Amino acid sequence: MEISVKNKIFHTQDLCLRTNLRCAKNSARMENIMSEKVSIGILAVQGAFAEHQAMLDGLGADTFLIRQKKDLEESVQNGGLQGIVLPGGESTVQGKLLRDLGMSDQLKELIEAGTPVLATCAGLILLAERVSNDDRAYLKTLPVSVKRNAYGRQLGSFVTDAEIAHIGTYRMNFIRAPYIAQAGEGVEILAEVDGKIVAARQGRQLVTAFHPELDGDTRIHEYFLNM
Ligand code: GLN
Repeated sequence: MEISVKNKIFHTQDLCLRTNLRCAKNSARMENIMSEKVSIGILAVQGAFAEHQAMLDGLGADTFLIRQKKDLEESVQNGGLQGIVLPGGESTVQGKLLRDLGMSDQLKELIEAGTPVLATCAGLILLAERVSNDDRAYLKTLPVSVKRNAYGRQLGSFVTDAEIAHIGTYRMNFIRAPYIAQAGEGVEILAEVDGKIVAARQGRQLVTAFHPELDGDTRIHEYFLNM
């Protein structure tokens, strides 16, 4: 039987439903991913990691949670780390836990060595070389300056539709979000909202100021898996 989702035709046996998520395992753009399972480690010390995991599982990735140093070390030893997700949450808490758990150096090395990373909201702050309104910076692998809690108290959370390069129009959920105030060399600006950079890529680092894991649109995660 065939089903039409967003004007695409899928066979029912290829559709999987999970946390409100629709994915077509055999859609053309997912062919790479499904022909070879990609193993993705999701940082799970705090924040919205479960939603990223549900979305990536739905896309056919082989996910695991990184809760402590040994999770990271074991996956690297087994050759089972083809991508990393740094979820939204609270960057000050995540940054402190990364240091306390002894994971900062290895994560930084892996990202600098080219392991693909998808970092959203607080995750973007963790990667930024500089935080313009805070003395703290964390992994510093991405040559950008970010502003934390950049939309003030009134506009702490909002949803807006905007264009993302290579992806198209996208519904963006901002939750006490940062934006990229300055982007350094080699950073491709993928999306702007009100003249502020809210999505970017440099090499294999893909960052969004908003939460792409929240409302069932899998295109950013697909883009990440194909990076
Ligand atoms: N305000 C958080 C911070 O500064 C980020 C919010 C989020 O990840 N949704 O870390």
